[in-house]
Amino acid sequence: MIPDYAGRRTRALDAAQVVDVDALLVTDLVNVRYLTGFSGSNAALALAPGGPVLVTDRRYEDQAAQECPGLDVVLERDAALGALRVLGGSGAAAVAIEADVMPVAQFHRLSAIDGAPALRPESALVSPLRRVKDAYEVSCLEEACRIAVEALVALTEEVRPGVSEQALAGRYEQLLRDCGADDRAFPSIVASGPNSAIPHHVPTTRPLERGDLLVIDVGASVRGYHSDMTRTFVVAADPSADQSRLHDAVAGAATAALGALGPGVPAKQPYAAALESLAAHGLGDRFTHGLGHGVGLEVHEAPIMSATSAATIVAGDVLTIEPGAYLPGFGGVRIEDTVVVAETGNRFLTDLSRECGRLG
Ligand code: ZN
Ligand code: ZN
Repeated sequence: MIPDYAGRRTRALDAAQVVDVDALLVTDLVNVRYLTGFSGSNAALALAPGGPVLVTDRRYEDQAAQECPGLDVVLERDAALGALRVLGGSGAAAVAIEADVMPVAQFHRLSAIDGAPALRPESALVSPLRRVKDAYEVSCLEEACRIAVEALVALTEEVRPGVSEQALAGRYEQLLRDCGADDRAFPSIVASGPNSAIPHHVPTTRPLERGDLLVIDVGASVRGYHSDMTRTFVVAADPSADQSRLHDAVAGAATAALGALGPGVPAKQPYAAALESLAAHGLGDRFTHGLGHGVGLEVHEAPIMSATSAATIVAGDVLTIEPGAYLPGFGGVRIEDTVVVAETGNRFLTDLSRECGRLG
């Protein structure tokens, strides 16, 4: 399956025309990858009706030819400058630039070039196109989720008192590669005991203790696409009554959020459903982050589901649902799944029990 890069570029030019420019200088490397398939670390894309040109440097000459067959490539160290020259040569009078990513210094430098097209800072021209995932993207996300689940199942066999958070996080990332991932999606979170009350805890040398809550938030990267999933366990003991109550409340919030999720729904609505569900257990103020986010070529991408979100959910969104509740000193619980939104119903990509299982 080959992505329809040409179709994506046509839609990006259409988006530029909506804001009255007919050329686009793409400098966000994630957007360059989305529009061309090129995955190198230095590139810009000149998009004009006359045809696209990828600019990168000599280190990537072979890679560009392999990843972007048929695409015109110009080799220049300053990729944005090279792409702007290409656009000037195509006769463009004004060029949209990606204001969310171009550094101010670069903007001033490019703006000062004699005879270059005028730069028009624009926000979010390409990123909205990335929201609705096509069949190729869903297959990559499915595989990233499947691998992350497989590696987590393998990791659960190795959890026992005395093993450190850092050791488990490192071991998980090894298992990911053994299961076929290109890389981890983000630094794995392993948070035990009181550390589980810290939503973005960085794993430490703390050894796991019997009866700890254990939050594991992990993902795989496959062909540039990411997965993101969290499960909460108890180490070497059955959950206590308090731990079970906390876990049940968060699981209930996940169910409430999923019930409220569908095409046409304001993105703040599933968040509100999760918050209401947790508040009914007296945990409303212990839910200290958003409900979830889009996931694709970036781990966190549009739409963000929170109290202030202005987005509307659409069919084709691939989203995380990740309610949590955190009690300082006691511990925390988070449950996170990745789902594809469809007219026919939401589909889970993270196929793993949400039970608060005993490990070790
Ligand atoms: Zn996560
Ligand atoms: Zn997440």
